[in-house]
Amino acid sequence: MIQSRFVPYSVEMSSTDVEAQLRSVSLRVTRPRLAVLAAVHKHPHVDTEAVLDLVRADVGAVSHQAVYDVLRALTNVGLVRRIQPAGATARYEARVGDNHHHLVCRSCGAITDVDCAVDRAPCLTVSDDQGFVIDEAEVVYWGTCPDCVTAPTNQPVPDRKECR
Ligand SMILES: [Zn+2]
Ligand SMILES: [Zn+2]
Ligand SMILES: [Zn+2]
Repeated sequence: MIQSRFVPYSVEMSSTDVEAQLRSVSLRVTRPRLAVLAAVHKHPHVDTEAVLDLVRADVGAVSHQAVYDVLRALTNVGLVRRIQPAGATARYEARVGDNHHHLVCRSCGAITDVDCAVDRAPCLTVSDDQGFVIDEAEVVYWGTCPDCVTAPTNQPVPDRKECR
């Protein structure tokens, strides 16, 4: 198996750290919120379904709507960032506050963080701002991940799990 050379931003937060994060934005500390935030820290770029599974494994029965609401609340206060590359389901990550971008594999859908080369938004110069005050350029780098590049061409494209 090929070891990915990319190191994902993944942090195992202690429950105290996660709790402190919730308090810092004046969100009431609840078990589902703790579980959702911890899951997003530990699994960068997870989708709602995966968060639901992780939270159920952690705290037991919880509805899809409840997890969805928590993700939305955490996104609104800026503890979680929501990304949605074209054609993909919404993903969530806890790496917030920087202007990092994403590499997305067209074959397997793998998503990898990449630092902004400029380090602040907007990192592209617009040809004509037409009077807009521009604060962000949304950058997604599309291509083929190392695992898919080296996959034999006469084989079916590996599914996402094999490709990670
Ligand atoms: Zn791939
Ligand atoms: Zn990211
Ligand atoms: Zn950039």
